[in-house]
Amino acid sequence: MPRIAEHRDVTVKRQYSCFTYCRHHVISVRANSTRQLHVLHRLENNDYSLDFWSEPSLVRPTHIRVPPTLVDTVTTLLRREGFKPETIQSDLQRLIDQENGAGLSSYSTGGQETRRPETHYLTFTEIESFLKNLTNEYPERVELKSLGETYEKRPIYRIKISSDLNATDKPVVWIQAMTHAREWITGAATLYTIKRLAQQSDEESREMLANFDWHIIPVHNPDGYVYTHTSDRMWRKNRNPNKRKKCRFLCGLCYGTDLNRNWDINWGGVGSSSNKCSQTFRGIKAFSEQETRAVRDAVLSTPNNRMFFSVHAYSQLILIPDGFRTEKPDDFADLKRVADRASGAMYNVNGERYQTGTSADLLYIASGNSEDYMRKADGPGIKWSFTYELRPDADSTHNGFLLDRRWIIPTAKELFASFYTFAAEISNVE
Ligand SMILES: [Zn+2]
Repeated sequence: MPRIAEHRDVTVKRQYSCFTYCRHHVISVRANSTRQLHVLHRLENNDYSLDFWSEPSLVRPTHIRVPPTLVDTVTTLLRREGFKPETIQSDLQRLIDQENGAGLSSYSTGGQETRRPETHYLTFTEIESFLKNLTNEYPERVELKSLGETYEKRPIYRIKISSDLNATDKPVVWIQAMTHAREWITGAATLYTIKRLAQQSDEESREMLANFDWHIIPVHNPDGYVYTHTSDRMWRKNRNPNKRKKCRFLCGLCYGTDLNRNWDINWGGVGSSSNKCSQTFRGIKAFSEQETRAVRDAVLSTPNNRMFFSVHAYSQLILIPDGFRTEKPDDFADLKRVADRASGAMYNVNGERYQTGTSADLLYIASGNSEDYMRKADGPGIKWSFTYELRPDADSTHNGFLLDRRWIIPTAKELFASFYTFAAEISNVE
């Protein structure tokens, strides 16, 4: 089993300054009408620069992180609009400190507990070692490549797992995770799939490799991911400084582009922001970012693309195209049928429900996202394209992005079961 040789970056960087999220609240609200949904959406995009942990939705609660100075203002505003805001966290920093403590305790035991992707949220350096070790161990079926460099000069790794690395006749599955930096469970769960496909020690992974080549991008946003370990656990976007315009306030947030609003599909439309300080800043133009261009170019230069999965957290959903509009595509019934099968497979692992539907039905429209771009007829043209939102669900008290590491394995097994099911279903259809 591959082991991580060195973790020096972990030991020095697990400190956060207390001013960051002390007494920040996480408020849960439920929209009961389209009017209330629009109120939330306006709030998300106004000058408060509030941090929406989950998108405004009519079918589940929305979680909003609110700084202490705005708690009274925001709760008063929400009450006036008919909401019943509920504080589910009153000091976010305490939770972050607990997560750090859990990470450090495994070191203080003298290394008895090896840091593995199934048991810990690995740093970017550790993930690099993990991927390189797998490549060394299984060179006949694993190939590691960088698709390009980020703004801060980190590689965007793609690991390819194939029964014949030189052949191009098999249909290809793309998996893209860690697009949003704070969604740590997506990287951990994807590394689990990578490991099982590389090891080929069970019937499911043998079947998956017999029918498809797997191209997996476990850390789509390395700069953002590193930044969540070193500076700001709640960072979402990449780390492009967006220098062109002077920033008047909350300047720290004016770095970064939302890499799931930067694709050339209804770019600039509803559900994305032109405000550089916004969590959903779409970039100055479609494909302005290295990370989206690198994946676009890799997909377009690969023959036989068959499926694409964009892995996010949280809310426990499998999102079906189209995400950028309310109208359903002509093949919606096909997409819904296989997504329901995949969701059923996830349920069978641990009894956890993952709802299926379009972003417009379950959340809110999101323009410029990768799932929709991959289906573009004059682009990659991949029919089977989906977005996951992994654990926890929106009703739970499992701390949103700060999902305890004991849930890595259950979540990873659910994700793997769904990939297996998608592969089994789609290998049987044209
Ligand atoms: Zn996300």
